[in-house]
Amino acid sequence: MASTETTSRSAELYQRACRSLATGVSSSLRRFVTETPLYIDHADGAHFYDVDGNCRADYTLGWGPLIVGSNHAGINAAVAKQLTKGYTYGCQHVAEIELAELIVESVPGVEQVIFSNTGTEAIQSAIRIARAHTGRDKILKFEGHYHGWLNNVLVSYRPKSEDTTLAQPTCGGQPASEYADTLVLPWNDIDALKDLFALRGDEIACVLTEPILANSGSCMPKPGYLEALVELCREHGAVSIFDEVITGFRIALGGAREYFGVEPDLSVYGKALAGGFTMSAVGGRAEMFEVLRDQRTIHSGTYNGTTFNIIAAIETIRELRKPGTYERMNAHGQAIAEALTSAAADVGLDVVVSGVGSVFSVHFGVKQAPRDYRDTTRSDMQTYTRFRAAMLDNGVQLLPDARWYIGTQHDEAVLEHVINAIESSMKDTVR
Ligand code: PLP
Repeated sequence: MASTETTSRSAELYQRACRSLATGVSSSLRRFVTETPLYIDHADGAHFYDVDGNCRADYTLGWGPLIVGSNHAGINAAVAKQLTKGYTYGCQHVAEIELAELIVESVPGVEQVIFSNTGTEAIQSAIRIARAHTGRDKILKFEGHYHGWLNNVLVSYRPKSEDTTLAQPTCGGQPASEYADTLVLPWNDIDALKDLFALRGDEIACVLTEPILANSGSCMPKPGYLEALVELCREHGAVSIFDEVITGFRIALGGAREYFGVEPDLSVYGKALAGGFTMSAVGGRAEMFEVLRDQRTIHSGTYNGTTFNIIAAIETIRELRKPGTYERMNAHGQAIAEALTSAAADVGLDVVVSGVGSVFSVHFGVKQAPRDYRDTTRSDMQTYTRFRAAMLDNGVQLLPDARWYIGTQHDEAVLEHVINAIESSMKDTVR
């Protein structure tokens, strides 16, 4: 951790916060990012500046969204212009159409979209559409996958029991009745999926998967796994849903659909879609939304389509569409991955990096990239935590779960800083 002398103002503010703001933070996990939660004064490009005057290169990107950095001139100008014209109308506006058109142009196989605000909400809309479309209730998810904090999907995220098919609640306050229709399987195991479909295929409304298991170790799908999953759904009349809240607009402009060349029935977007503004979407073939048009079900929300979120998403996608953007982000991530493994080898540590250039996870103490949640539990998180503390001391802010995010704001100067930090932090880690 950064020494307490250099974060004393944050420590004071945290104490003050705990008196009136329950837990002191606004999202449970944020308590554990650093020993004392850091209070950010402002952020600019690739850097966070805390209230104690520390400047840190940021590889957390607000847990993913800040793909074009903070204080982005284009987003600022467009949002500022919109703010004088109204925040939210509860009515239609032209920018909604422009954003829908941009997404449809950008993402293979997405013909139509619906908008909401958070990934959690959009996942629920996708599930509801799938249920209305199929007339079935069961949803299938995989171990270690995160699809938001609601009870029907927050199961078997960090399972305690060895039973890989048991839907296990993640926290207190989750009544069994709310996840009674949720089935669970280990990921990356097509035979397990085939067997379940053979037994209960006619009950399953949808299969929900992160296309890269970014929430647990950034595990990559085995070759052919995503294709087989989509095909099995098709055979059994279930809806395939890719949760692209992390991968969407990040691993390619067209997300996993473009990166892997696979088109599920529905995809869910959030995070990078609006560069840090509150925006999510569900996209898919037009026929998938027939259940909304014919009023078999509904999709609603006071803030859906809020003007400045939509405008921010348009500007973010415009920035991401510039030539060379993804190549640069991937090269930056690749250079960091190489620096991590070679600096680790220099001090006698095993380190493996899994994922892709713009979102990856670092695994200490293993020799092979994990393929599913159970594999990830073998990574040595204690050593990573020491490494992360050293990185913070060396001016680089990282997430506690060993996931790194890269954005367009990470330039050569930041790369040089982070590589130096990696080399010296690896030495500190074994000292
Ligand atoms: N799906 C995935 C893959 C996520 O990583 C997250 C959040 O981290 C969500 C859904 C939920 O999104 P939100 O936090 O915007 O509700």
